[in-house]
Amino acid sequence: MSWEVVIGLEIHAQLATKSKIFSGASTAFGAEPNTQACAVDLGLPGVLPVMNAQAVEMAVKFALATDAQIGRTSVFARKNYFYPDLPKGYQISQMALPIVGEGSVTVAQTDGTEKEVGLTRAHLEEDAGKSVHDQFNDATGVDLNRAGTPLLEIVSEPDMRSSAEAVAYARHIHSLVRYIDICDGNMQEGSFRCDANVSIREKGDTELGTRTEIKNVNSFRFLERAIEFEIERQIDVLESGGTVVQETRLYDADKDETRSMRSKEEANDYRYFPDPDLPPLVVDVTFIESIRATLPELPHVRKARFIEDLGLPTDDAVALTADKRVADFFEATLDDSFKPRKAANWMTGELFARMNKEEVSLSEVPVSAEQVKGMLIRMEDGTISAKIAKQVFDELWAGAESADAVIEAKGLKQISDSGAIETMIDEVLAANPGQVEEYRGGKDKLMSFFVGQVMRASKGKANPAQLNDILKKKLDG
Ligand code: ADP
Ligand code: MG
Repeated sequence: MSWEVVIGLEIHAQLATKSKIFSGASTAFGAEPNTQACAVDLGLPGVLPVMNAQAVEMAVKFALATDAQIGRTSVFARKNYFYPDLPKGYQISQMALPIVGEGSVTVAQTDGTEKEVGLTRAHLEEDAGKSVHDQFNDATGVDLNRAGTPLLEIVSEPDMRSSAEAVAYARHIHSLVRYIDICDGNMQEGSFRCDANVSIREKGDTELGTRTEIKNVNSFRFLERAIEFEIERQIDVLESGGTVVQETRLYDADKDETRSMRSKEEANDYRYFPDPDLPPLVVDVTFIESIRATLPELPHVRKARFIEDLGLPTDDAVALTADKRVADFFEATLDDSFKPRKAANWMTGELFARMNKEEVSLSEVPVSAEQVKGMLIRMEDGTISAKIAKQVFDELWAGAESADAVIEAKGLKQISDSGAIETMIDEVLAANPGQVEEYRGGKDKLMSFFVGQVMRASKGKANPAQLNDILKKKLDG
């Protein structure tokens, strides 16, 4: 039997506001347990929630970035359920009328193709607290700091057909929300969480199969593995004559499996009703337009511009636009004296390698785009070779002021004086008569030996092109 996989994702993006969605309490991560939940977050009697305008701005920003409809009037509803991390007994969310309606995103796949994924809706809601299972013997603690933290729940259409497509989509949204600066994307801290709805059906069927929803996936790698596991499990169930039960399943990364958590609840189990404490949320055109004006150039538009206007190869354009800070940095290194491709090469090669090695993100890199630009200019005008540039970059990383200052202080200026290079070559050839003879006898490989010797004599400063040229003439001519 041939199966088709169907996946839809629900992504909870924590909005990067300073205070909670309906109160002034701080949203900062990592505080002492239960020091950042105020009476409103706890829903104590007599309190009234007040809408955080910044959360609304961020939701609208997301709608604009995904070409989604904007719910000009949206309504907050109480979703009622009992759980220890939700002492007030209900979560304020949006149900019938969300702030963001239908939209879509075009997702670049790893095989180079693109796929359109529909967005069903995105709604504002508050987060619940957290149960802490690993700090007390035989007891579970409850930390309510997270209660009331603003979330944007982004719901996709069931458009994905493989775990790879689902991961590409999740990465796309992850990159987008950071790009437009509405979420820090930190998956370890839970700022960006994906629930995957997975079903399978016979190829050719038009109706969807019964789905399960996998929770607790906190990395893209786990998302892929959890979906893969779930696909195999469902195929086994169906092929052995069973039926898939609609339920919520938990992914266990240690065992690399999903297991049943609870049977799936239906919307009507929650007894949603409009929150009587919050009036309908109305956003007008002026407000929407003022937010449109703050929208940065979006990653896919920027990527296309990098390819078409700056002449970058596609993979460089992709690598440089995934993160806004990286793209901004790249553009700030550009100068009329060299091709953008040169800066792109250097960034995706040298800079990224160094960042990996030091395990830092761009914001922690101690070298500015301006300093890099100064170095690229000196590479272009021949003052330093690519090899010496590495040394210059090390010095900049260690705190040097500018490429020019390093070149001056360390005497790194490339030797492009052909007379000086010739003298060094002559000395090397005179010191190695045996190798010269072997080379002339046909041992071509010795060329690199001579180049190395002269380079060493010049302390790496000989202009490599000139060196090769003159050396070849001397040996062959
Ligand atoms: P709920 O809110 O109860 O989880 P929704 O109907 O809002 O349910 O769907 C949630 C997510 O599940 C959406 O992303 C949707 O695309 C996806 N989904 C719905 N049905 C299926 C299915 N049969 N197979 C895979 N994904 C599905
Ligand atoms: Mg759900």
